[in-house]
Amino acid sequence: MAAAGASQPGLDFDGLRPPTPGLTETHGSWRNTVRAFVNAEIAPNIDAWDAAGTFPDAIYERAVAAGIFGMGFPASLGGVIEDADLYHRIIFAEELHRLGSGVVFADLATHWIGLPPVIGFGASQLHDAVVRPVLAGQQRIAFAVTEPSGGSDVSRLMTSAERHGDHWLVNGEKTLISGGLRADYVLTAVRTGGAGMGGISLLLIDAASPGLTRAPVTGLGWYNSSIASMSLRDVSVPADRLIGVENKGFSALTRQFNIERFSGIAATLAMSRVCLAEAIRFAAQRETFGKRLAEHQVIRHKLVDMVREVHAAYGYLDQCVWRFENGDVPIADLCMLKVHATTTLESCAREALHILGGSAYTGSHRLERIYREARIFAVGGGTEEVLRDLAARQLGL
Ligand SMILES: Cc1cc2nc3c(=O)[nH]c(=O)nc-3n(C[C@H](O)[C@H](O)[C@H](O)COP(=O)(O)OP(=O)(O)OC[C@H]3O[C@@H](n4cnc5c(N)ncnc54)[C@H](O)[C@@H]3O)c2cc1C
Repeated sequence: MAAAGASQPGLDFDGLRPPTPGLTETHGSWRNTVRAFVNAEIAPNIDAWDAAGTFPDAIYERAVAAGIFGMGFPASLGGVIEDADLYHRIIFAEELHRLGSGVVFADLATHWIGLPPVIGFGASQLHDAVVRPVLAGQQRIAFAVTEPSGGSDVSRLMTSAERHGDHWLVNGEKTLISGGLRADYVLTAVRTGGAGMGGISLLLIDAASPGLTRAPVTGLGWYNSSIASMSLRDVSVPADRLIGVENKGFSALTRQFNIERFSGIAATLAMSRVCLAEAIRFAAQRETFGKRLAEHQVIRHKLVDMVREVHAAYGYLDQCVWRFENGDVPIADLCMLKVHATTTLESCAREALHILGGSAYTGSHRLERIYREARIFAVGGGTEEVLRDLAARQLGL
């Protein structure tokens, strides 16, 4: 491939992110901070953690010490960068996925989903009891919605909570809960009312409660994860652990899903850039049939198509961020963008591995990790079918 022109940034991970007016110097220094943490704490260990099937709890307090864990939370509760915006969240996801360490991201990020409803709608005593220790990296919170009977159709949720005087009695099953094995608290979606979306509430449950048992979920993709299934049998939960209004938990869930989607989109686009950068580097050096791979037209076109998809996605992402930050909630666009981003990652991961040929299968390779983790993003945070359907309804089709 010819050298990049004077006005063209390099074709590495950073150069492949198109410039955007939304990114300021503040975001640049935030990126440096997160990258330094990833380089020091995750990069040297990620292969060993994959092999061991776990990573040490100490990473939480190290993230706190690095000044990245409490991003966006009030300083009065132990947070940092109170005025963080969506780009701070996006950059965090991009930097952690530069290594394809999706699971470390998922476990380190559960408090961004679990804590905001507790802070916004929970009893004030939970600030000291729960929020501070979580933001100090000493305790952990997970967010449990999905059940063995299905995750896409949240309105069919079956885990029940019955009010008995000053407590709730909870019965049911949850599965695929990120960070669930390590969690001290589980923000849990339960059915407190009738059928459908109108009968759902959120309860903050102590993971050590009698009657709550956990088991690891192992399988494709995230090797070092602490994903859990949970069984709840007559688990007693104090009445003041209701987060928000009884039977109105669904709207709190959708707010969290929208924010989570930005992280998922950023993660997939970062991993797409890693794939692309590796493929470009390899194609520039490898020679076959008397010329460099990048000089074969089929390969050049593949690389250009990958750049095209990634750049288009970033343009769409910037537009969604701008609308969100200005008070709009562009649900249909966010759904369509997530589908675009996850399909872009899958095609970039496939094509990059293919361009590397057999060498992609030798030794430990971050493309290998990204290839197996790519599928997760097409499911978590809303599957592609469910998001297309939601977009269709929003568009009035
Ligand atoms: C790695 C990982 C981490 C996760 N972490 C969490 C977590 O922390 N907390 C949590 O609560 N959940 C978590 N989940 C669960 C995730 O949210 C669910 O997997 C997801 O919502 C899909 O639910 P399901 O797996 O039950 O699939 P189902 O809902 O059973 O769907 C199965 C398939 O059918 C398709 N489908 C469903 N409905 C339709 C339709 N109307 N039309 C066409 N196709 C349809 C789906 O797209 C999917 O392909 C995680 C999942 C993964 C893989």
